[in-house]
Amino acid sequence: MDETPTLDVERVRASFDFVGRGRIATNNAASTQLPRELLQLYAELVPQYENVHRGQSDASALTTARFEASYDTIAQWICAPNRRTISIHRKTTEAINLVMYTLLTEFRDGDNVVTTMMEHNSDYVPWYALCREILPRFGRTVECRIARFDHESGELDLGHLASLVDDRTKLVCCTGASNFLGTKPPLADIRRIADGSGYRQPNGEICSRLLVDAAQLMPSALIDVRAMDVDYLAFSFHKFIAPLGVGVLYAKEHLREDSLPFLYGGDMIAEGMVTPDHVGYNVLPWKYSAGTPNILGVIVSAQAMRLAIDLVGADPSKTWFRSADPIPRRIVGSTMSRIGDYTASLTRRAVSSLTRVPGLRIHGVPAGVARAPLVAFTVDGHDPFEIARALNDRGVESRAGCHCATLAHHDLGLDPPASCRISFSFYNTAEDVDRAVEAVGQAVSVPV
Ligand code: PLP
Repeated sequence: MDETPTLDVERVRASFDFVGRGRIATNNAASTQLPRELLQLYAELVPQYENVHRGQSDASALTTARFEASYDTIAQWICAPNRRTISIHRKTTEAINLVMYTLLTEFRDGDNVVTTMMEHNSDYVPWYALCREILPRFGRTVECRIARFDHESGELDLGHLASLVDDRTKLVCCTGASNFLGTKPPLADIRRIADGSGYRQPNGEICSRLLVDAAQLMPSALIDVRAMDVDYLAFSFHKFIAPLGVGVLYAKEHLREDSLPFLYGGDMIAEGMVTPDHVGYNVLPWKYSAGTPNILGVIVSAQAMRLAIDLVGADPSKTWFRSADPIPRRIVGSTMSRIGDYTASLTRRAVSSLTRVPGLRIHGVPAGVARAPLVAFTVDGHDPFEIARALNDRGVESRAGCHCATLAHHDLGLDPPASCRISFSFYNTAEDVDRAVEAVGQAVSVPV
Protein backbone atom coordinates (compact mmCIF):
# COMPACT_ATOMS: atom_id res chain seq x y z
CA MET A 1 0.00 0.00 0.00
CA ASP A 2 3.01 2.30 0.42
CA GLU A 3 3.17 4.81 -2.39
CA THR A 4 5.66 7.61 -2.98
CA PRO A 5 3.81 10.81 -2.11
CA THR A 6 3.62 13.41 -4.87
CA LEU A 7 4.02 16.25 -2.41
CA ASP A 8 5.61 17.02 0.94
CA VAL A 9 2.54 16.84 3.15
CA GLU A 10 4.34 18.03 6.27
CA ARG A 11 5.23 21.24 4.43
CA VAL A 12 1.59 21.68 3.40
CA ARG A 13 0.36 20.87 6.88
CA ALA A 14 2.62 23.41 8.51
CA SER A 15 0.36 26.14 7.11
CA PHE A 16 -2.80 24.71 8.66
CA ASP A 17 -2.95 25.49 12.36
CA PHE A 18 -6.33 23.80 12.73
CA VAL A 19 -5.31 20.51 11.17
CA GLY A 20 -3.74 17.82 13.34
CA ARG A 21 -3.90 18.99 16.98
CA GLY A 22 -6.43 16.32 17.92
CA ARG A 23 -8.58 16.85 14.84
CA ILE A 24 -8.62 14.45 11.94
CA ALA A 25 -10.01 16.81 9.31
CA THR A 26 -11.65 14.35 6.93
CA ASN A 27 -14.81 16.19 5.97
CA ASN A 28 -13.19 18.20 3.20
CA ALA A 29 -15.82 17.57 0.54
CA ALA A 30 -18.02 19.81 2.70
CA SER A 31 -15.40 22.55 3.29
CA THR A 32 -11.65 22.66 3.70
CA GLN A 33 -9.60 24.41 6.39
CA LEU A 34 -7.93 27.79 5.91
CA PRO A 35 -4.14 28.15 5.81
CA ARG A 36 -2.47 30.65 8.11
CA GLU A 37 -1.08 32.72 5.20
CA LEU A 38 -4.60 33.49 3.98
CA LEU A 39 -5.86 34.42 7.43
CA GLN A 40 -2.86 36.76 7.77
CA LEU A 41 -3.50 38.26 4.35
CA TYR A 42 -7.15 38.84 5.24
CA ALA A 43 -6.15 40.58 8.49
CA GLU A 44 -3.62 42.71 6.61
CA LEU A 45 -6.16 43.80 4.01
CA VAL A 46 -8.83 44.82 6.50
CA PRO A 47 -7.20 48.14 7.53
CA GLN A 48 -6.19 48.90 3.95
CA TYR A 49 -9.32 48.29 1.98
CA GLU A 50 -11.90 50.61 0.46
CA ASN A 51 -14.88 49.73 -1.66
CA VAL A 52 -14.11 48.84 -5.29
CA HIS A 53 -15.29 50.95 -8.25
CA ARG A 54 -16.77 53.36 -5.70
CA GLY A 55 -14.13 55.79 -4.48
CA GLN A 56 -11.36 58.10 -5.58
CA SER A 57 -8.99 57.37 -2.72
CA ASP A 58 -5.69 55.59 -3.18
CA ALA A 59 -7.09 52.82 -1.00
CA SER A 60 -10.03 52.35 -3.35
CA ALA A 61 -7.76 52.32 -6.39
CA LEU A 62 -5.47 49.75 -4.78
CA THR A 63 -8.34 47.53 -3.65
CA THR A 64 -9.94 47.80 -7.09
CA ALA A 65 -6.70 46.78 -8.77
CA ARG A 66 -6.31 43.78 -6.44
CA PHE A 67 -9.94 42.80 -6.86
CA GLU A 68 -9.84 43.00 -10.66
CA ALA A 69 -6.54 41.10 -10.78
CA SER A 70 -8.25 38.31 -8.83
CA TYR A 71 -10.57 37.77 -11.79
CA ASP A 72 -7.49 37.33 -13.99
CA THR A 73 -5.96 34.80 -11.59
CA ILE A 74 -9.20 32.82 -11.49
CA ALA A 75 -9.45 32.89 -15.29
CA GLN A 76 -5.83 31.66 -15.56
CA TRP A 77 -6.48 28.89 -13.05
CA ILE A 78 -9.27 27.36 -15.12
CA CYS A 79 -7.62 28.21 -18.47
CA ALA A 80 -10.41 30.62 -19.41
CA PRO A 81 -9.60 33.05 -22.21
CA ASN A 82 -10.08 36.19 -20.12
CA ARG A 83 -11.77 37.71 -17.06
CA ARG A 84 -14.89 38.59 -19.07
CA THR A 85 -15.91 34.94 -18.89
CA ILE A 86 -15.82 34.92 -15.07
CA SER A 87 -18.46 36.04 -12.65
CA ILE A 88 -18.17 35.75 -8.91
CA HIS A 89 -21.02 34.74 -6.67
CA ARG A 90 -21.39 33.41 -3.19
CA LYS A 91 -21.15 29.71 -4.04
CA THR A 92 -21.68 27.03 -6.69
CA THR A 93 -25.36 26.94 -5.81
CA GLU A 94 -25.78 30.61 -6.64
CA ALA A 95 -23.76 30.26 -9.85
CA ILE A 96 -25.99 27.45 -11.12
CA ASN A 97 -29.10 29.38 -10.13
CA LEU A 98 -27.73 32.30 -12.14
CA VAL A 99 -27.63 30.10 -15.25
CA MET A 100 -31.18 28.95 -14.58
CA TYR A 101 -32.51 32.50 -14.14
CA THR A 102 -30.62 33.96 -17.10
CA LEU A 103 -31.93 31.18 -19.36
CA LEU A 104 -35.49 31.55 -18.08
CA THR A 105 -36.55 33.75 -20.97
CA GLU A 106 -34.87 31.52 -23.55
CA PHE A 107 -36.63 28.24 -22.85
CA ARG A 108 -39.30 27.48 -25.45
CA ASP A 109 -42.42 25.45 -24.88
CA GLY A 110 -41.51 21.78 -25.39
CA ASP A 111 -37.80 22.16 -24.57
CA ASN A 112 -36.06 19.93 -22.05
CA VAL A 113 -33.07 19.94 -19.69
CA VAL A 114 -31.10 16.75 -19.14
CA THR A 115 -29.40 16.21 -15.81
CA THR A 116 -28.23 13.13 -13.93
CA MET A 117 -29.28 11.03 -10.98
CA MET A 118 -25.92 11.64 -9.29
CA GLU A 119 -26.21 15.45 -9.13
CA HIS A 120 -25.90 17.44 -5.96
CA ASN A 121 -29.23 19.13 -5.19
CA SER A 122 -27.63 22.39 -6.38
CA ASP A 123 -27.60 21.00 -9.90
CA TYR A 124 -30.95 19.28 -9.76
CA VAL A 125 -33.38 21.34 -7.69
CA PRO A 126 -32.97 24.51 -9.83
CA TRP A 127 -33.87 22.48 -12.94
CA TYR A 128 -36.74 20.76 -11.15
CA ALA A 129 -38.05 24.15 -10.00
CA LEU A 130 -37.63 25.65 -13.46
CA CYS A 131 -39.60 22.86 -15.12
CA ARG A 132 -42.19 22.08 -12.45
CA GLU A 133 -42.76 25.42 -10.76
CA ILE A 134 -41.43 28.46 -12.58
CA LEU A 135 -42.06 27.97 -16.30
CA PRO A 136 -45.58 26.50 -15.85
CA ARG A 137 -46.53 29.89 -14.33
CA PHE A 138 -45.55 31.45 -17.65
CA GLY A 139 -47.57 28.84 -19.56
CA ARG A 140 -44.50 26.99 -20.82
CA THR A 141 -43.92 23.26 -20.50
CA VAL A 142 -40.30 22.22 -20.20
CA GLU A 143 -39.26 18.74 -19.13
CA CYS A 144 -36.45 17.81 -16.75
CA ARG A 145 -34.94 14.45 -17.74
CA ILE A 146 -32.64 12.48 -15.47
CA ALA A 147 -29.92 10.13 -16.73
CA ARG A 148 -29.33 7.00 -14.66
CA PHE A 149 -26.11 5.65 -13.23
CA ASP A 150 -25.04 2.04 -12.87
CA HIS A 151 -25.61 0.95 -9.27
CA GLU A 152 -22.62 -1.38 -9.18
CA SER A 153 -19.96 0.67 -10.95
CA GLY A 154 -21.27 4.12 -10.01
CA GLU A 155 -20.66 5.15 -13.64
CA LEU A 156 -23.06 7.41 -15.46
CA ASP A 157 -25.14 5.43 -17.99
CA LEU A 158 -23.97 7.31 -21.05
CA GLY A 159 -26.28 5.36 -23.37
CA HIS A 160 -29.24 6.41 -21.25
CA LEU A 161 -28.08 10.03 -21.21
CA ALA A 162 -27.67 9.95 -25.01
CA SER A 163 -31.20 8.55 -25.36
CA LEU A 164 -32.60 11.49 -23.35
CA VAL A 165 -30.86 14.18 -25.40
CA ASP A 166 -32.77 15.26 -28.49
CA ASP A 167 -33.35 18.30 -30.66
CA ARG A 168 -35.35 19.95 -27.85
CA THR A 169 -32.56 19.65 -25.27
CA LYS A 170 -31.47 23.17 -24.51
CA LEU A 171 -29.05 22.23 -21.76
CA VAL A 172 -27.23 19.20 -20.39
CA CYS A 173 -26.13 19.57 -16.74
CA CYS A 174 -23.65 17.20 -15.23
CA THR A 175 -21.38 17.01 -12.25
CA GLY A 176 -17.65 16.95 -12.86
CA ALA A 177 -17.27 14.68 -9.82
CA SER A 178 -20.03 13.22 -7.67
CA ASN A 179 -19.80 14.23 -4.02
CA PHE A 180 -21.32 10.88 -3.01
CA LEU A 181 -20.26 8.21 -5.52
CA GLY A 182 -16.92 9.81 -6.35
CA THR A 183 -17.66 9.25 -10.05
CA LYS A 184 -16.06 11.53 -12.60
CA PRO A 185 -18.39 11.33 -15.61
CA PRO A 186 -16.74 11.36 -19.07
CA LEU A 187 -17.30 15.02 -19.90
CA ALA A 188 -15.78 14.79 -23.39
CA ASP A 189 -18.34 12.13 -24.34
CA ILE A 190 -21.13 14.20 -22.82
CA ARG A 191 -19.93 17.22 -24.82
CA ARG A 192 -20.11 15.12 -28.01
CA ILE A 193 -23.65 14.00 -27.17
CA ALA A 194 -24.67 17.63 -26.53
CA ASP A 195 -23.04 18.71 -29.79
CA GLY A 196 -25.00 16.15 -31.76
CA SER A 197 -28.43 16.98 -30.35
CA GLY A 198 -29.61 19.20 -33.20
CA TYR A 199 -31.06 21.81 -30.82
CA ARG A 200 -31.19 25.28 -32.35
CA GLN A 201 -30.13 27.89 -29.80
CA PRO A 202 -31.49 31.46 -30.16
CA ASN A 203 -28.08 32.64 -31.41
CA GLY A 204 -28.16 30.09 -34.25
CA GLU A 205 -25.80 27.52 -32.68
CA ILE A 206 -26.95 23.96 -33.25
CA CYS A 207 -26.14 22.05 -30.05
CA SER A 208 -27.26 21.63 -26.48
CA ARG A 209 -25.30 23.68 -24.01
CA LEU A 210 -23.23 21.93 -21.36
CA LEU A 211 -23.11 23.01 -17.74
CA VAL A 212 -20.58 21.33 -15.43
CA ASP A 213 -20.89 21.47 -11.65
CA ALA A 214 -17.18 21.41 -10.78
CA ALA A 215 -17.59 21.90 -7.01
CA GLN A 216 -15.90 18.54 -6.32
CA LEU A 217 -13.71 18.44 -9.41
CA MET A 218 -11.88 21.74 -9.03
CA PRO A 219 -10.19 20.91 -5.66
CA SER A 220 -8.27 17.94 -7.08
CA ALA A 221 -8.05 18.33 -10.86
CA LEU A 222 -6.88 20.71 -13.54
CA ILE A 223 -9.87 22.49 -15.01
CA ASP A 224 -9.33 23.61 -18.59
CA VAL A 225 -12.61 25.12 -19.67
CA ARG A 226 -11.42 25.59 -23.22
CA ALA A 227 -10.22 22.01 -23.66
CA MET A 228 -13.41 20.78 -21.99
CA ASP A 229 -15.44 23.10 -24.22
CA VAL A 230 -18.00 23.65 -21.48
CA ASP A 231 -20.53 26.44 -21.84
CA TYR A 232 -20.88 26.96 -18.09
CA LEU A 233 -18.81 25.71 -15.16
CA ALA A 234 -19.29 26.45 -11.47
CA PHE A 235 -17.26 25.88 -8.32
CA SER A 236 -16.84 27.13 -4.73
CA PHE A 237 -13.59 28.27 -3.18
CA HIS A 238 -14.44 27.02 0.31
CA LYS A 239 -13.67 23.52 -0.95
CA PHE A 240 -10.15 24.58 -1.92
CA ILE A 241 -8.47 26.07 1.19
CA ALA A 242 -10.12 29.49 0.68
CA PRO A 243 -12.71 31.43 2.70
CA LEU A 244 -16.45 30.88 2.61
CA GLY A 245 -18.72 32.93 0.41
CA VAL A 246 -16.91 32.95 -2.92
CA GLY A 247 -18.17 30.91 -5.86
CA VAL A 248 -17.30 31.18 -9.52
CA LEU A 249 -19.24 30.82 -12.71
CA TYR A 250 -17.36 30.50 -15.97
CA ALA A 251 -19.54 31.10 -19.04
CA LYS A 252 -18.50 31.49 -22.67
CA GLU A 253 -18.18 35.15 -23.49
CA HIS A 254 -20.85 35.22 -26.20
CA LEU A 255 -23.34 33.64 -23.79
CA ARG A 256 -22.59 36.35 -21.24
CA GLU A 257 -22.99 39.04 -23.90
CA ASP A 258 -26.33 37.58 -25.05
CA SER A 259 -27.85 36.81 -21.63
CA LEU A 260 -29.73 39.14 -19.41
CA PRO A 261 -28.03 39.93 -16.10
CA PHE A 262 -28.94 37.99 -12.97
CA LEU A 263 -28.95 40.69 -10.29
CA TYR A 264 -29.82 44.26 -11.18
CA GLY A 265 -28.46 47.29 -9.33
CA GLY A 266 -25.26 49.22 -8.79
CA ASP A 267 -21.99 48.60 -10.64
CA MET A 268 -23.58 46.41 -13.31
CA ILE A 269 -24.59 49.67 -15.00
CA ALA A 270 -22.32 51.65 -17.34
CA GLU A 271 -21.35 54.95 -15.68
CA GLY A 272 -24.20 57.46 -16.03
CA MET A 273 -26.34 55.11 -18.11
CA VAL A 274 -29.58 55.14 -16.16
CA THR A 275 -32.47 57.38 -17.23
CA PRO A 276 -36.22 56.89 -16.90
CA ASP A 277 -36.20 55.41 -20.41
CA HIS A 278 -32.90 53.63 -20.70
CA VAL A 279 -30.51 51.49 -18.70
CA GLY A 280 -27.12 50.60 -20.18
CA TYR A 281 -25.28 47.63 -18.73
CA ASN A 282 -21.64 47.68 -17.75
CA VAL A 283 -19.01 45.78 -19.73
CA LEU A 284 -18.16 42.20 -18.82
CA PRO A 285 -17.48 40.90 -16.26
CA TRP A 286 -19.08 43.72 -14.22
CA LYS A 287 -22.44 43.25 -15.94
CA TYR A 288 -22.74 40.24 -13.62
CA SER A 289 -21.46 41.97 -10.48
CA ALA A 290 -24.37 44.01 -9.12
CA GLY A 291 -23.96 45.44 -5.64
CA THR A 292 -20.92 45.52 -3.40
CA PRO A 293 -19.03 42.25 -3.86
CA ASN A 294 -17.24 40.15 -1.26
CA ILE A 295 -14.10 42.12 -1.99
CA LEU A 296 -11.69 40.65 0.53
CA GLY A 297 -13.06 37.15 0.10
CA VAL A 298 -12.41 37.34 -3.63
CA ILE A 299 -8.87 38.72 -3.25
CA VAL A 300 -7.98 36.10 -0.65
CA SER A 301 -9.53 33.28 -2.70
CA ALA A 302 -7.47 34.17 -5.74
CA GLN A 303 -4.38 34.14 -3.53
CA ALA A 304 -5.37 30.67 -2.27
CA MET A 305 -4.59 29.32 -5.72
CA ARG A 306 -1.21 31.07 -5.79
CA LEU A 307 -0.45 29.75 -2.32
CA ALA A 308 -1.34 26.20 -3.37
CA ILE A 309 1.43 26.32 -5.99
CA ASP A 310 3.96 27.14 -3.27
CA LEU A 311 2.59 24.69 -0.72
CA VAL A 312 2.95 21.72 -3.04
CA GLY A 313 6.30 22.89 -4.41
CA ALA A 314 5.14 22.93 -8.01
CA ASP A 315 7.54 25.71 -9.03
CA PRO A 316 10.82 25.82 -7.13
CA SER A 317 11.94 28.82 -9.24
CA LYS A 318 9.68 31.38 -7.55
CA THR A 319 7.11 32.24 -4.91
CA TRP A 320 3.63 32.67 -6.37
CA PHE A 321 1.77 33.74 -3.23
CA ARG A 322 1.23 37.52 -3.39
CA SER A 323 2.79 37.69 -6.85
CA ALA A 324 0.79 39.37 -9.60
CA ASP A 325 2.35 37.41 -12.46
CA PRO A 326 0.08 35.50 -14.79
CA ILE A 327 0.09 31.80 -13.91
CA PRO A 328 0.98 29.58 -16.87
CA ARG A 329 -1.19 26.53 -17.52
CA ARG A 330 1.79 24.24 -16.96
CA ILE A 331 2.16 25.51 -13.37
CA VAL A 332 -1.54 25.06 -12.66
CA GLY A 333 -1.31 21.61 -14.25
CA SER A 334 1.66 20.56 -12.18
CA THR A 335 0.05 21.89 -8.97
CA MET A 336 -3.19 20.08 -9.60
CA SER A 337 -1.56 16.85 -10.70
CA ARG A 338 0.45 16.78 -7.46
CA ILE A 339 -2.70 17.44 -5.44
CA GLY A 340 -4.84 15.06 -7.51
CA ASP A 341 -2.31 12.19 -7.40
CA TYR A 342 -1.70 12.67 -3.71
CA THR A 343 -5.36 12.80 -2.68
CA ALA A 344 -6.07 9.85 -5.01
CA SER A 345 -3.44 7.82 -3.13
CA LEU A 346 -5.13 8.65 0.19
CA THR A 347 -8.46 7.63 -1.30
CA ARG A 348 -7.09 4.31 -2.56
CA ARG A 349 -5.71 3.65 0.90
CA ALA A 350 -9.09 4.40 2.49
CA VAL A 351 -11.02 2.27 -0.02
CA SER A 352 -8.73 -0.69 0.36
CA SER A 353 -8.80 -0.57 4.19
CA LEU A 354 -12.53 0.08 4.48
CA THR A 355 -13.35 -2.93 2.33
CA ARG A 356 -11.95 -5.08 5.17
CA VAL A 357 -14.74 -3.96 7.52
CA PRO A 358 -17.37 -6.74 7.50
CA GLY A 359 -20.76 -5.56 6.29
CA LEU A 360 -19.36 -2.27 5.00
CA ARG A 361 -20.43 -1.26 1.52
CA ILE A 362 -18.69 1.51 -0.37
CA HIS A 363 -21.10 3.28 -2.66
CA GLY A 364 -20.10 4.22 -6.15
CA VAL A 365 -16.86 3.75 -7.96
CA PRO A 366 -15.18 0.41 -7.10
CA ALA A 367 -11.62 0.03 -5.78
CA GLY A 368 -8.93 0.65 -8.36
CA VAL A 369 -10.96 3.17 -10.36
CA ALA A 370 -10.10 6.87 -10.09
CA ARG A 371 -12.62 8.73 -8.00
CA ALA A 372 -12.93 12.11 -6.38
CA PRO A 373 -11.06 12.03 -3.03
CA LEU A 374 -14.00 10.87 -0.98
CA VAL A 375 -15.53 7.60 0.15
CA ALA A 376 -19.17 7.19 1.16
CA PHE A 377 -20.24 3.97 2.80
CA THR A 378 -22.91 2.22 4.82
CA VAL A 379 -22.48 -0.66 7.25
CA ASP A 380 -25.14 -3.34 7.63
CA GLY A 381 -27.13 -2.84 10.80
CA HIS A 382 -25.57 0.53 11.65
CA ASP A 383 -27.08 3.98 11.33
CA PRO A 384 -24.71 6.26 9.34
CA PHE A 385 -25.41 9.10 11.80
CA GLU A 386 -24.37 6.89 14.71
CA ILE A 387 -21.17 5.98 12.89
CA ALA A 388 -20.42 9.65 12.21
CA ARG A 389 -21.02 10.52 15.87
CA ALA A 390 -18.76 7.66 16.97
CA LEU A 391 -16.08 8.93 14.58
CA ASN A 392 -16.43 12.39 16.08
CA ASP A 393 -15.91 10.90 19.56
CA ARG A 394 -12.55 9.67 18.24
CA GLY A 395 -11.63 13.06 16.75
CA VAL A 396 -12.48 12.05 13.19
CA GLU A 397 -14.60 14.46 11.17
CA SER A 398 -17.02 12.96 8.69
CA ARG A 399 -20.47 13.61 7.32
CA ALA A 400 -23.59 11.47 7.53
CA GLY A 401 -26.77 11.97 5.52
CA CYS A 402 -27.50 12.39 1.83
CA HIS A 403 -24.72 14.96 1.31
CA CYS A 404 -27.34 16.75 -0.84
CA ALA A 405 -27.03 13.86 -3.33
CA THR A 406 -30.58 12.94 -2.39
CA LEU A 407 -31.66 11.53 -5.76
CA ALA A 408 -28.78 9.06 -5.79
CA HIS A 409 -29.44 7.87 -2.23
CA HIS A 410 -33.08 7.16 -3.10
CA ASP A 411 -32.12 5.60 -6.40
CA LEU A 412 -29.81 3.15 -4.63
CA GLY A 413 -32.69 2.24 -2.33
CA LEU A 414 -30.78 3.22 0.81
CA ASP A 415 -33.17 3.09 3.73
CA PRO A 416 -32.83 5.43 5.52
CA PRO A 417 -31.49 7.51 2.59
CA ALA A 418 -28.13 8.20 4.19
CA SER A 419 -24.48 7.20 4.15
CA CYS A 420 -21.34 8.19 6.03
CA ARG A 421 -18.61 9.96 4.08
CA ILE A 422 -14.96 10.73 4.69
CA SER A 423 -13.15 13.00 2.27
CA PHE A 424 -9.60 14.20 1.80
CA SER A 425 -7.67 17.32 1.06
CA PHE A 426 -3.97 17.67 0.31
CA TYR A 427 -3.14 18.41 3.95
CA ASN A 428 -4.35 14.99 5.07
CA THR A 429 -1.83 12.24 5.79
CA ALA A 430 -1.87 8.47 5.38
CA GLU A 431 -2.07 8.39 9.18
CA ASP A 432 -5.27 10.47 9.06
CA VAL A 433 -6.74 7.87 6.73
CA ASP A 434 -5.67 5.00 8.99
CA ARG A 435 -7.08 6.76 12.06
CA ALA A 436 -10.37 7.37 10.27
CA VAL A 437 -10.62 3.75 9.11
CA GLU A 438 -9.67 2.46 12.55
CA ALA A 439 -12.39 4.66 14.04
CA VAL A 440 -14.94 3.21 11.59
CA GLY A 441 -13.93 -0.28 12.69
CA GLN A 442 -14.30 0.71 16.36
CA ALA A 443 -17.64 2.39 15.65
CA VAL A 444 -19.03 -0.86 14.31
CA SER A 445 -17.03 -2.96 16.82
CA VAL A 446 -14.66 -4.56 14.34
CA PRO A 447 -10.91 -3.97 14.66
CA VAL A 448 -9.35 -3.10 11.25
N1 PLP B 1 -22.14 20.54 -6.19
C1 PLP B 1 -21.44 19.62 -5.55
C2 PLP B 1 -21.00 18.39 -6.30
C3 PLP B 1 -21.10 19.78 -4.22
O1 PLP B 1 -20.42 18.84 -3.57
C4 PLP B 1 -21.53 20.95 -3.55
C5 PLP B 1 -21.25 21.16 -2.12
O2 PLP B 1 -21.08 20.25 -1.37
C6 PLP B 1 -22.26 21.90 -4.27
C7 PLP B 1 -22.54 21.67 -5.58
C8 PLP B 1 -22.78 23.14 -3.62
O3 PLP B 1 -21.73 23.96 -3.26
P1 PLP B 1 -22.04 25.26 -2.37
O4 PLP B 1 -22.68 24.74 -1.12
O5 PLP B 1 -20.71 25.86 -2.15
O6 PLP B 1 -22.97 26.09 -3.16
